[in-house]
Amino acid sequence: MRPELGILRAEFGADQVLDGEAALPFERDWRGRATGAQAGRAMAVLCPRSVDEVQAMVRAAARLHLALVPQGGNTGLVLGGTPDASGAELVLSLKRLNRIRRIDPINATLTAEAGCVLQTLQQACAAQQLLLPLSLAAEGQCTLGGNLATNAGGTQVLRWGNARDLCLGLEVVTADGLLWSDLDGLRKDHRGLNLRDLFIGSEGVLGLITAAVMKLAPLPRSRLSAWLTLPSLEAALQLLPQARAALGDGLSGFEVMGQAAQLLLPELPLPAAPWALLVEVSSHRDEAQTRAELEAWLAPALDAGRMLDAVVAHTEAQAHALWALRESIPGAQTRAGGNLKHDIALPLDRIAAFVADCEARIQRAFPGARPTVFGHLGDGNLHFNVAPPVGQSLAEFQPHEAALNRLVFDCVADWGGSFSAEHGIGRLRAAELAARGDAVGLDLMGRIKQALDPANRLNPGRVLASGSDGNRADA
Ligand SMILES: Cc1cc2nc3c(=O)[nH]c(=O)nc-3n(C[C@H](O)[C@H](O)[C@H](O)COP(=O)(O)OP(=O)(O)OC[C@H]3O[C@@H](n4cnc5c(N)ncnc54)[C@H](O)[C@@H]3O)c2cc1C
Repeated sequence: MRPELGILRAEFGADQVLDGEAALPFERDWRGRATGAQAGRAMAVLCPRSVDEVQAMVRAAARLHLALVPQGGNTGLVLGGTPDASGAELVLSLKRLNRIRRIDPINATLTAEAGCVLQTLQQACAAQQLLLPLSLAAEGQCTLGGNLATNAGGTQVLRWGNARDLCLGLEVVTADGLLWSDLDGLRKDHRGLNLRDLFIGSEGVLGLITAAVMKLAPLPRSRLSAWLTLPSLEAALQLLPQARAALGDGLSGFEVMGQAAQLLLPELPLPAAPWALLVEVSSHRDEAQTRAELEAWLAPALDAGRMLDAVVAHTEAQAHALWALRESIPGAQTRAGGNLKHDIALPLDRIAAFVADCEARIQRAFPGARPTVFGHLGDGNLHFNVAPPVGQSLAEFQPHEAALNRLVFDCVADWGGSFSAEHGIGRLRAAELAARGDAVGLDLMGRIKQALDPANRLNPGRVLASGSDGNRADA
């Protein structure tokens, strides 16, 4: 046993300093990307039960010159919250910080600790007729702290924005163990630089989020979903401004699926078409009025041939079934043998041209490779995943990953987009950021990191590749 482990156990107790079997779930990433010699291995997993304990653990790690990897629900997809293979990093799990501190119906805010599971928070708010408008397929496991650390997006960004847009304040433990608290829930507050926005989306490299205040909205009275099939991606994009005009603020979801993505799904509500859309409308009108509005938008578009077909869910259960289909795409891809993944964003007016161009480039470079495209079209965010040619396994295709990524990300850059839309940078895309990021922007990020975490103790090597030497933080 490493001596540091004994020191940590003596200070915090064995129950809060896990290793061996107990540490395994915290060491594995969701997609199982880090395997073999690269498999994550932590020196220990620290599990504080209070903010005081988080501070004490951060100070202990500093005394022992150890790196800390903050972790929430461990659903991140870019190797940001799991330890590297060195066996020298400490994971600091925020999961036991899971108290809802307050739901305030007058201010329409929720104050909750970082380890609260998103779905638990949604349910607690719904019980008070309030909506926490953040929703993603991992909501049964991801945590509020992780959502804010990654500035999570999901399926309702079109209407409500990212996690950042919903957050009014944070409580953060800094790299030197101090507590910064800004949980007043004020909607107007201009006392100097906005530190909240600095920590949101910083993926644990600047501080540990321990609690947050989130904006809430009234629970919608009606929610309707429709599955539409379309002849082209261009046609789907043409529908977006029309939907906005017809449905106004009620338009809360606009998800797209290419044909390959639809074919992965067991029970399609309509036969697979070149493209399909899952549209959601959430409204404060009653269901009959909302349905009338939705149908008033759909009927002329169908008559004019702008869409091939449309199905509107008639019950809440049917709507859930449509969304369950959409959310089952990632699992279905895995069962179909897996693919190489890209989480990208494009300007909406160029997205169709980008997809055509990128698919053509892929066919030239990797004949037979099969793009599976789906995502949050209303936000310009595509999951652009590429499966191996028929007859080739993912393991056989994997050696092409670097070349394929270069091709896809070059094409994204050519069309004015981003190689990282909502999943973040972590370790997976840190080299990409170093190579493709704006030089001045990268320099500013480095200076901010240096100012807040000069010993490079928090999540070294994540986001900013320069600190990628694991926990040799004080060197
Ligand atoms: C099936 C599935 C669907 C998904 N869909 C979406 C989607 O639609 N939109 C989307 O944006 N993401 C999506 N994700 C990615 C992931 O769920 C989100 O990034 C989520 O916000 C991560 O939360 P978490 O608690 O699991 O964080 P973790 O995975 O534990 O950590 C993620 C990052 O945040 C840091 N971190 C975690 N907690 C804290 C904290 N309290 N303080 C400081 N840093 C911290 C970690 O170090 C790490 O860098 C999906 C993932 C899965 C598996």
